[in-house]
Amino acid sequence: MSTADTNFDDAVRIQMVRLGAALYNRGLTPGRTGNLSVRADDQIMVTPTDSCLGCLDATRLAVTTLDGQHIAGDRPSKELILHRALYRHHPTCTAVAHLHSTSAVAVSCLPDLNTDDALPPITPYFVMRVGRLPLIDYATPGSVELEEQVSRASERSRSVLMRNHGSLAAGTSLESAVDAVEEIEETARLYLLLAGRSPAYLGEEDVADLHRRFPSTV
Ligand SMILES: [Zn+2]
Repeated sequence: MSTADTNFDDAVRIQMVRLGAALYNRGLTPGRTGNLSVRADDQIMVTPTDSCLGCLDATRLAVTTLDGQHIAGDRPSKELILHRALYRHHPTCTAVAHLHSTSAVAVSCLPDLNTDDALPPITPYFVMRVGRLPLIDYATPGSVELEEQVSRASERSRSVLMRNHGSLAAGTSLESAVDAVEEIEETARLYLLLAGRSPAYLGEEDVADLHRRFPSTV
């Protein structure tokens, strides 16, 4: 199938290239790390394997079926299996973003994190854009074990933090998925900056109020 015959027009391709470059240019996805995907009906478009998000080619983005069969463009990222796990559990979500961003990876390596929700509610924006952030154990990238862990965690959240690896978030648009992984990175950075200072976080009532007003990520 040629890329022109897929479910993804020029506008969504250009948007993926633009957002990939924006993440790369701000140091949020170094080297050939990270990947983005969007879903439209029975197809997924994802950044190609070993690609740099700073120099994506709109005409070569990989397109697959929902079960991951390659149908157009370059070969898909090996991490597509993680995106598919989120899509399975969140049928209203049409995009997924994954980063190996520095602060999120640093926090993922710390001991004694709450595995149900790895970061505290430092700001209302983390609660609104991310909600709950389950932490899963390290497993080899691309392995069935990692996919199964992401799948289990995504039953209770749209976002997942993977130990010694990075963050993963689904959204109802590519912008909202990217916003979520950026919010995870910024909250992780704040968490590291505040370490050892007994900071004040949002209280349970404040968080419950945000969940009532902005229920989409819960
Ligand atoms: Zn990765």
